[in-house]
Amino acid sequence: MSRAARITIDLDAIRHNYRLARSLNSAGKAVAIIKANGYGHGAVEIAKSLEPEADAFGVACIEEGIELVEAGIDKPILLLEGFFEASELEYISEKGMWCAVHSVAQIDQIADANLSKPINIWLKMDSGMHRLGVHPDDYQQAYTRLKSLDNVADVVLMSHFACADELDKIATQEQVAVFNAVTADIDAPVSLANSAGVLAWNDARRDIMRPGLMLYGATPFPQAQENADKLIPAMTLTSEVIAVREIQPGQCVGYAGSFCADAPTRVGTVALGYADGYPRHAGTGTPVLVNGQRSRIIGRVSMDMLAVDLTDFPDAGVGTEVEFWGKNLTAAEIAPHCATIPYTLFTGITRRVHKKYI
Ligand code: PLP
Repeated sequence: MSRAARITIDLDAIRHNYRLARSLNSAGKAVAIIKANGYGHGAVEIAKSLEPEADAFGVACIEEGIELVEAGIDKPILLLEGFFEASELEYISEKGMWCAVHSVAQIDQIADANLSKPINIWLKMDSGMHRLGVHPDDYQQAYTRLKSLDNVADVVLMSHFACADELDKIATQEQVAVFNAVTADIDAPVSLANSAGVLAWNDARRDIMRPGLMLYGATPFPQAQENADKLIPAMTLTSEVIAVREIQPGQCVGYAGSFCADAPTRVGTVALGYADGYPRHAGTGTPVLVNGQRSRIIGRVSMDMLAVDLTDFPDAGVGTEVEFWGKNLTAAEIAPHCATIPYTLFTGITRRVHKKYI
Protein backbone atom coordinates (compact mmCIF):
# COMPACT_ATOMS: atom_id res chain seq x y z
CA MET A 1 0.00 0.00 0.00
CA SER A 2 1.45 3.37 -0.95
CA ARG A 3 -0.69 6.25 0.29
CA ALA A 4 -1.39 5.82 3.98
CA ALA A 5 -4.93 7.26 4.27
CA ARG A 6 -6.87 4.41 5.80
CA ILE A 7 -9.98 3.48 7.76
CA THR A 8 -9.73 0.52 10.09
CA ILE A 9 -13.06 -1.09 10.94
CA ASP A 10 -13.40 -3.02 14.17
CA LEU A 11 -16.07 -5.65 13.48
CA ASP A 12 -16.11 -6.75 17.14
CA ALA A 13 -17.10 -3.21 18.08
CA ILE A 14 -20.03 -3.37 15.64
CA ARG A 15 -21.12 -6.70 17.14
CA HIS A 16 -20.85 -5.21 20.63
CA ASN A 17 -22.98 -2.23 19.60
CA TYR A 18 -25.60 -4.45 17.96
CA ARG A 19 -25.78 -6.56 21.13
CA LEU A 20 -26.19 -3.40 23.20
CA ALA A 21 -29.24 -2.50 21.10
CA ARG A 22 -30.70 -5.97 21.55
CA SER A 23 -30.00 -5.96 25.29
CA LEU A 24 -32.08 -2.81 25.72
CA ASN A 25 -35.14 -4.71 24.53
CA SER A 26 -34.41 -8.40 24.75
CA ALA A 27 -37.98 -9.37 23.81
CA GLY A 28 -37.75 -7.31 20.65
CA LYS A 29 -35.86 -7.67 17.41
CA ALA A 30 -33.38 -5.34 15.75
CA VAL A 31 -32.90 -4.66 12.07
CA ALA A 32 -29.26 -3.61 11.63
CA ILE A 33 -29.33 -0.53 9.41
CA ILE A 34 -26.47 -0.81 6.94
CA LYS A 35 -27.66 1.52 4.18
CA ALA A 36 -25.19 3.83 2.44
CA ASN A 37 -22.59 1.07 2.40
CA GLY A 38 -22.97 0.47 6.11
CA TYR A 39 -22.66 4.22 6.84
CA GLY A 40 -19.33 4.06 5.00
CA HIS A 41 -18.06 1.02 6.93
CA GLY A 42 -18.77 -1.56 4.18
CA ALA A 43 -22.26 -3.09 4.02
CA VAL A 44 -21.25 -6.54 2.84
CA GLU A 45 -18.49 -7.02 5.40
CA ILE A 46 -20.77 -5.87 8.22
CA ALA A 47 -23.64 -8.03 7.06
CA LYS A 48 -21.36 -11.06 6.92
CA SER A 49 -19.99 -10.44 10.35
CA LEU A 50 -23.38 -9.68 11.95
CA GLU A 51 -25.40 -12.27 10.07
CA PRO A 52 -25.26 -15.01 12.72
CA GLU A 53 -26.98 -12.77 15.26
CA ALA A 54 -28.77 -9.99 13.37
CA ASP A 55 -32.52 -10.40 12.84
CA ALA A 56 -32.47 -8.54 9.52
CA PHE A 57 -30.63 -5.81 7.63
CA GLY A 58 -31.99 -2.44 6.54
CA VAL A 59 -30.87 -0.62 3.40
CA ALA A 60 -32.29 2.38 1.57
CA CYS A 61 -33.16 0.96 -1.82
CA ILE A 62 -33.13 -2.11 -4.02
CA GLU A 63 -29.63 -1.53 -5.44
CA GLU A 64 -28.25 -1.74 -1.91
CA GLY A 65 -30.36 -4.84 -1.28
CA ILE A 66 -29.13 -6.55 -4.44
CA GLU A 67 -25.54 -6.04 -3.30
CA LEU A 68 -26.31 -8.01 -0.13
CA VAL A 69 -28.24 -10.73 -1.95
CA GLU A 70 -25.38 -11.15 -4.42
CA ALA A 71 -22.93 -11.38 -1.55
CA GLY A 72 -24.93 -14.36 -0.25
CA ILE A 73 -26.67 -12.70 2.71
CA ASP A 74 -29.66 -14.83 3.69
CA LYS A 75 -31.25 -12.78 6.46
CA PRO A 76 -34.25 -10.64 5.46
CA ILE A 77 -33.43 -7.28 3.88
CA LEU A 78 -35.67 -4.31 4.63
CA LEU A 79 -35.91 -1.57 2.00
CA LEU A 80 -36.39 1.56 4.11
CA GLU A 81 -37.32 3.84 1.24
CA GLY A 82 -39.41 1.10 -0.33
CA PHE A 83 -39.68 0.79 -4.07
CA PHE A 84 -39.41 3.53 -6.65
CA GLU A 85 -40.93 1.69 -9.62
CA ALA A 86 -43.44 -1.15 -9.74
CA SER A 87 -40.94 -3.14 -11.82
CA GLU A 88 -38.86 -3.66 -8.64
CA LEU A 89 -41.65 -5.55 -6.91
CA GLU A 90 -41.08 -8.93 -8.53
CA TYR A 91 -37.42 -9.01 -7.42
CA ILE A 92 -38.47 -7.91 -3.92
CA SER A 93 -41.03 -10.70 -3.85
CA GLU A 94 -38.70 -13.37 -5.24
CA LYS A 95 -35.93 -12.56 -2.76
CA GLY A 96 -38.29 -12.28 0.20
CA MET A 97 -37.25 -8.69 0.93
CA TRP A 98 -39.30 -6.56 3.31
CA CYS A 99 -40.53 -3.38 1.72
CA ALA A 100 -41.57 -0.06 3.25
CA VAL A 101 -44.65 1.53 1.75
CA HIS A 102 -45.11 5.21 2.35
CA SER A 103 -48.06 6.29 0.21
CA VAL A 104 -51.53 5.17 -0.77
CA ALA A 105 -50.48 5.30 -4.45
CA GLN A 106 -47.87 2.62 -3.75
CA ILE A 107 -50.57 0.33 -2.36
CA ASP A 108 -52.35 0.54 -5.71
CA GLN A 109 -49.12 -0.42 -7.46
CA ILE A 110 -48.75 -3.46 -5.21
CA ALA A 111 -52.38 -4.42 -5.80
CA ASP A 112 -51.85 -4.30 -9.57
CA ALA A 113 -48.57 -6.23 -9.63
CA ASN A 114 -48.27 -9.81 -10.76
CA LEU A 115 -46.03 -11.37 -8.13
CA SER A 116 -44.71 -14.86 -7.56
CA LYS A 117 -44.94 -14.55 -3.76
CA PRO A 118 -46.67 -12.15 -1.34
CA ILE A 119 -44.40 -9.44 0.11
CA ASN A 120 -43.89 -8.44 3.74
CA ILE A 121 -44.78 -4.77 3.94
CA TRP A 122 -43.71 -2.13 6.46
CA LEU A 123 -46.44 0.49 6.36
CA LYS A 124 -44.94 3.84 7.22
CA MET A 125 -46.95 6.52 9.01
CA ASP A 126 -46.09 10.20 8.89
CA SER A 127 -46.51 10.71 12.63
CA GLY A 128 -44.89 14.16 12.57
CA MET A 129 -41.64 14.18 10.61
CA HIS A 130 -43.47 15.27 7.44
CA ARG A 131 -41.04 13.63 5.07
CA LEU A 132 -42.39 10.20 4.05
CA GLY A 133 -45.38 8.20 5.21
CA VAL A 134 -49.12 7.79 5.01
CA HIS A 135 -51.11 10.53 6.78
CA PRO A 136 -52.48 9.35 10.17
CA ASP A 137 -56.05 9.94 8.92
CA ASP A 138 -55.53 7.48 6.05
CA TYR A 139 -53.43 4.94 7.91
CA GLN A 140 -56.05 2.50 9.19
CA GLN A 141 -57.65 2.30 5.79
CA ALA A 142 -54.26 1.77 4.15
CA TYR A 143 -53.55 -1.06 6.59
CA THR A 144 -56.94 -2.72 5.96
CA ARG A 145 -56.45 -2.48 2.22
CA LEU A 146 -52.95 -3.98 2.38
CA LYS A 147 -54.20 -6.87 4.51
CA SER A 148 -56.85 -7.62 1.88
CA LEU A 149 -54.34 -8.02 -0.95
CA ASP A 150 -53.11 -11.42 -2.15
CA ASN A 151 -49.76 -9.78 -2.93
CA VAL A 152 -49.21 -8.90 0.73
CA ALA A 153 -48.07 -11.27 3.48
CA ASP A 154 -47.43 -9.68 6.90
CA VAL A 155 -47.64 -5.97 7.65
CA VAL A 156 -45.39 -4.19 10.15
CA LEU A 157 -46.49 -0.77 11.40
CA MET A 158 -43.67 1.74 11.26
CA SER A 159 -42.84 5.39 11.74
CA HIS A 160 -39.61 7.40 11.98
CA PHE A 161 -38.57 10.07 14.49
CA ALA A 162 -37.50 13.59 13.57
CA CYS A 163 -36.00 14.73 16.89
CA ALA A 164 -35.22 11.65 19.00
CA ASP A 165 -31.64 12.87 19.49
CA GLU A 166 -32.97 15.93 21.33
CA LEU A 167 -33.78 14.53 24.73
CA ASP A 168 -35.41 17.65 26.12
CA LYS A 169 -37.92 18.04 23.27
CA ILE A 170 -41.40 16.58 23.45
CA ALA A 171 -41.59 15.96 19.69
CA THR A 172 -40.76 12.27 20.07
CA GLN A 173 -43.48 11.70 22.68
CA GLU A 174 -45.90 13.55 20.43
CA GLN A 175 -45.01 11.31 17.49
CA VAL A 176 -45.44 8.19 19.65
CA ALA A 177 -48.82 9.49 20.86
CA VAL A 178 -50.06 10.11 17.29
CA PHE A 179 -48.84 6.66 16.25
CA ASN A 180 -50.41 4.91 19.26
CA ALA A 181 -53.76 6.63 18.83
CA VAL A 182 -54.04 5.56 15.21
CA THR A 183 -52.80 1.99 15.66
CA ALA A 184 -54.47 1.13 19.00
CA ASP A 185 -56.91 -1.31 17.37
CA ILE A 186 -54.43 -2.93 14.99
CA ASP A 187 -52.81 -6.18 16.03
CA ALA A 188 -49.49 -6.08 14.18
CA PRO A 189 -45.80 -5.67 15.06
CA VAL A 190 -44.54 -2.12 15.54
CA SER A 191 -41.21 -0.52 14.60
CA LEU A 192 -40.39 3.05 15.64
CA ALA A 193 -36.90 3.37 17.06
CA ASN A 194 -33.78 4.60 15.29
CA SER A 195 -30.56 4.69 17.36
CA ALA A 196 -31.69 7.61 19.53
CA GLY A 197 -35.01 5.84 20.12
CA VAL A 198 -33.27 2.58 21.02
CA LEU A 199 -30.84 4.28 23.38
CA ALA A 200 -33.05 6.75 25.18
CA TRP A 201 -36.78 6.43 24.53
CA ASN A 202 -38.34 3.54 26.47
CA ASP A 203 -41.71 3.94 24.75
CA ALA A 204 -40.15 3.67 21.34
CA ARG A 205 -38.37 0.33 21.39
CA ARG A 206 -41.46 -1.80 20.75
CA ASP A 207 -41.28 -4.99 18.63
CA ILE A 208 -38.59 -4.24 16.06
CA MET A 209 -35.85 -1.60 16.49
CA ARG A 210 -33.90 -0.03 13.64
CA PRO A 211 -30.46 0.96 14.98
CA GLY A 212 -28.13 2.57 12.47
CA LEU A 213 -25.59 5.09 13.73
CA MET A 214 -25.17 3.39 17.10
CA LEU A 215 -23.93 0.20 15.41
CA TYR A 216 -20.90 2.17 14.33
CA GLY A 217 -20.26 3.32 17.87
CA ALA A 218 -21.24 6.97 17.51
CA THR A 219 -23.70 8.63 19.81
CA PRO A 220 -26.58 10.55 18.27
CA PHE A 221 -26.71 12.83 21.34
CA PRO A 222 -24.75 16.01 21.94
CA GLN A 223 -24.48 15.16 25.65
CA ALA A 224 -23.45 12.09 27.66
CA GLN A 225 -26.17 9.44 27.83
CA GLU A 226 -26.13 6.30 29.95
CA ASN A 227 -26.54 3.78 27.12
CA ALA A 228 -24.73 5.73 24.43
CA ASP A 229 -21.70 5.90 26.72
CA LYS A 230 -21.35 2.11 26.32
CA LEU A 231 -20.90 2.28 22.56
CA ILE A 232 -17.54 1.39 21.04
CA PRO A 233 -16.47 3.39 17.97
CA ALA A 234 -15.85 1.05 15.04
CA MET A 235 -14.08 3.27 12.50
CA THR A 236 -10.60 4.71 12.94
CA LEU A 237 -9.39 7.18 10.30
CA THR A 238 -5.63 7.55 10.06
CA SER A 239 -2.94 8.68 7.69
CA GLU A 240 0.73 9.57 7.89
CA VAL A 241 2.98 12.60 7.88
CA ILE A 242 4.59 12.95 4.45
CA ALA A 243 6.64 16.13 5.05
CA VAL A 244 7.79 18.30 7.95
CA ARG A 245 8.97 21.91 8.07
CA GLU A 246 9.44 24.62 10.66
CA ILE A 247 7.86 28.01 10.03
CA GLN A 248 8.65 31.30 11.73
CA PRO A 249 6.33 33.92 13.24
CA GLY A 250 4.37 35.61 10.47
CA GLN A 251 4.65 32.68 8.05
CA CYS A 252 1.39 31.04 7.04
CA VAL A 253 0.26 27.54 6.05
CA GLY A 254 -1.76 26.27 3.10
CA TYR A 255 -4.35 27.83 0.79
CA ALA A 256 -5.30 31.40 1.63
CA GLY A 257 -2.73 31.33 4.42
CA SER A 258 -5.53 31.01 6.91
CA PHE A 259 -3.17 30.01 9.74
CA CYS A 260 -0.15 32.21 10.44
CA ALA A 261 2.36 31.29 13.12
CA ASP A 262 2.96 33.60 16.06
CA ALA A 263 5.86 31.47 17.31
CA PRO A 264 8.20 28.95 15.67
CA THR A 265 5.89 26.14 14.59
CA ARG A 266 6.67 22.62 13.39
CA VAL A 267 4.26 21.78 10.57
CA GLY A 268 3.50 18.20 9.59
CA THR A 269 1.87 17.71 6.20
CA VAL A 270 -0.39 14.65 6.23
CA ALA A 271 -1.75 12.66 3.28
CA LEU A 272 -5.45 13.21 3.91
CA GLY A 273 -7.75 15.78 2.36
CA TYR A 274 -11.31 16.55 1.46
CA ALA A 275 -11.14 14.23 -1.55
CA ASP A 276 -10.73 11.43 1.01
CA GLY A 277 -13.82 12.62 2.82
CA TYR A 278 -12.11 14.55 5.61
CA PRO A 279 -14.24 17.70 5.81
CA ARG A 280 -12.83 20.90 4.37
CA HIS A 281 -14.66 22.78 7.11
CA ALA A 282 -12.38 21.33 9.79
CA GLY A 283 -10.46 24.49 10.52
CA THR A 284 -7.46 25.36 12.66
CA GLY A 285 -7.89 23.83 16.10
CA THR A 286 -9.75 20.68 15.08
CA PRO A 287 -8.20 17.95 17.26
CA VAL A 288 -6.11 15.07 15.93
CA LEU A 289 -3.98 12.45 17.68
CA VAL A 290 -0.26 12.24 17.01
CA ASN A 291 1.24 9.14 18.58
CA GLY A 292 -1.89 8.98 20.70
CA GLN A 293 -1.48 12.56 22.01
CA ARG A 294 -3.73 15.45 21.10
CA SER A 295 -2.63 18.03 18.61
CA ARG A 296 -4.57 20.14 16.10
CA ILE A 297 -5.10 20.90 12.46
CA ILE A 298 -3.60 24.18 11.27
CA GLY A 299 -4.70 26.01 8.13
CA ARG A 300 -7.13 24.85 5.47
CA VAL A 301 -7.78 21.26 4.53
CA SER A 302 -6.84 20.82 0.86
CA MET A 303 -7.97 18.15 -1.57
CA ASP A 304 -5.20 15.64 -0.84
CA MET A 305 -3.46 16.89 2.28
CA LEU A 306 -3.71 18.93 5.42
CA ALA A 307 -1.34 20.27 8.04
CA VAL A 308 -1.04 19.37 11.70
CA ASP A 309 0.84 21.12 14.46
CA LEU A 310 3.90 19.06 15.46
CA THR A 311 5.50 21.76 17.61
CA ASP A 312 5.13 19.62 20.75
CA PHE A 313 6.17 16.45 18.91
CA PRO A 314 9.89 16.77 18.21
CA ASP A 315 10.16 13.05 17.52
CA ALA A 316 7.38 13.01 14.93
CA GLY A 317 8.54 12.93 11.33
CA VAL A 318 7.77 11.50 7.95
CA GLY A 319 5.83 8.27 8.52
CA THR A 320 4.35 9.27 11.89
CA GLU A 321 0.74 8.14 12.11
CA VAL A 322 -1.96 10.72 12.70
CA GLU A 323 -5.45 9.69 13.83
CA PHE A 324 -8.43 11.83 12.83
CA TRP A 325 -11.18 9.93 14.61
CA GLY A 326 -11.53 6.59 16.30
CA LYS A 327 -11.84 5.18 19.79
CA ASN A 328 -9.88 7.91 21.60
CA LEU A 329 -11.08 10.86 19.57
CA THR A 330 -14.63 10.25 18.50
CA ALA A 331 -16.30 11.32 15.27
CA ALA A 332 -19.00 12.84 17.49
CA GLU A 333 -16.33 15.15 18.97
CA ILE A 334 -14.94 16.08 15.56
CA ALA A 335 -18.32 16.73 13.90
CA PRO A 336 -19.08 20.10 15.56
CA HIS A 337 -15.66 21.41 14.47
CA CYS A 338 -16.89 20.99 10.89
CA ALA A 339 -20.49 22.07 11.48
CA THR A 340 -21.73 18.57 10.79
CA ILE A 341 -22.77 15.24 12.37
CA PRO A 342 -20.97 11.89 12.58
CA TYR A 343 -23.28 10.45 9.88
CA THR A 344 -21.74 12.65 7.21
CA LEU A 345 -18.20 12.05 8.42
CA PHE A 346 -18.63 8.28 8.06
CA THR A 347 -20.57 8.27 4.80
CA GLY A 348 -18.27 10.89 3.28
CA ILE A 349 -15.17 8.69 3.27
CA THR A 350 -14.28 8.12 -0.38
CA ARG A 351 -13.09 4.99 -2.13
CA ARG A 352 -9.51 6.19 -2.42
CA VAL A 353 -9.15 5.58 1.35
CA HIS A 354 -7.99 2.02 2.06
CA LYS A 355 -10.28 -0.08 4.25
CA LYS A 356 -8.98 -2.61 6.69
CA TYR A 357 -11.08 -4.92 8.87
CA ILE A 358 -9.95 -6.17 12.24
N1 PLP B 1 -34.99 3.89 10.18
C1 PLP B 1 -35.13 4.70 9.13
C2 PLP B 1 -36.42 4.73 8.39
C3 PLP B 1 -34.07 5.51 8.71
O1 PLP B 1 -34.21 6.31 7.67
C4 PLP B 1 -32.85 5.46 9.45
C5 PLP B 1 -31.73 6.31 9.10
O2 PLP B 1 -31.83 7.43 8.72
C6 PLP B 1 -32.75 4.61 10.54
C7 PLP B 1 -33.83 3.82 10.88
C8 PLP B 1 -31.50 4.54 11.38
O3 PLP B 1 -31.30 5.79 11.99
P1 PLP B 1 -30.04 6.03 12.95
O4 PLP B 1 -28.84 5.94 12.07
O5 PLP B 1 -30.24 7.39 13.49
O6 PLP B 1 -30.07 4.95 13.95
